[in-house]
Amino acid sequence: MTRIEFLGTGTSHGVPVIGCHCPVCSSADPHDKRWRSSVLIERDGTTVVIDTGYEFRLQALRAGIDRLDAVLYTHQHSDHLMGLDDLRVFTSEEKLPVYGLGPVLDSISRIFPYAFDDMPYKGVPRLAKRPVEERVPFRVGSLEFTAIPVMHGCMRIAGYRFGRAAYITDASDILLDENRKALEGIHTLVIGALRDKPHWSHFTFDQAVEAAKAIGAEEVWFTHINHATSHAEIERRYAPYARPAYDTLVLEVDDER
Ligand SMILES: [Zn+2]
Ligand SMILES: [Zn+2]
Ligand SMILES: [Zn+2]
Repeated sequence: MTRIEFLGTGTSHGVPVIGCHCPVCSSADPHDKRWRSSVLIERDGTTVVIDTGYEFRLQALRAGIDRLDAVLYTHQHSDHLMGLDDLRVFTSEEKLPVYGLGPVLDSISRIFPYAFDDMPYKGVPRLAKRPVEERVPFRVGSLEFTAIPVMHGCMRIAGYRFGRAAYITDASDILLDENRKALEGIHTLVIGALRDKPHWSHFTFDQAVEAAKAIGAEEVWFTHINHATSHAEIERRYAPYARPAYDTLVLEVDDER
């Protein structure tokens, strides 16, 4: 069994948006409070986080994370990256491996060069870069991941498949022709869906459903949602096939079936 816990399900602004008084930002429904998108994945004692946005510290405290085997990065946008410094509590004994495609690891080296110093200042995060290749599986403990390249506007970034689940956030094209085989047999799909209005670098809800059906996913969870649509409204319109994930939601994916 693989456990997926949503640490955050909001777009880059988070929800509520600073200074916004719209119905969703003012909503009393806790499902309408969305921190920046990230997931915690656990299987047989292996614990991995995908992306570390601004709220990583708060998310780690809320989820009770006390150890990490690795962090996987989807891309270098700040809403997926800027909580990285708080990884330092997990790196006192040995370096923490961080996995990603070349461009995101290059950005991490540029923004946080001190995390890779040979003679580190005491107290900084100590990270080890683990570059991954598109569609080439790699193992972290008892989890096997595959980076699935997707287009995020003009950026080629990574989604990650693990067993019968996949996490694809910030996408506007799943590159089905080249990814067809790598996406085969996905049961549970987490997919970024920003809003109804078209956006150049993110799927709308309808486009995300279309992509999920093309993949053949049986269970679909939207993430990276903005403040234009409430949780209740998305649920009403897209359930049961696709449903809005929310912060603290836990999914259990059966690896065997
Ligand atoms: Zn994002
Ligand atoms: Zn708002
Ligand atoms: Zn992005």
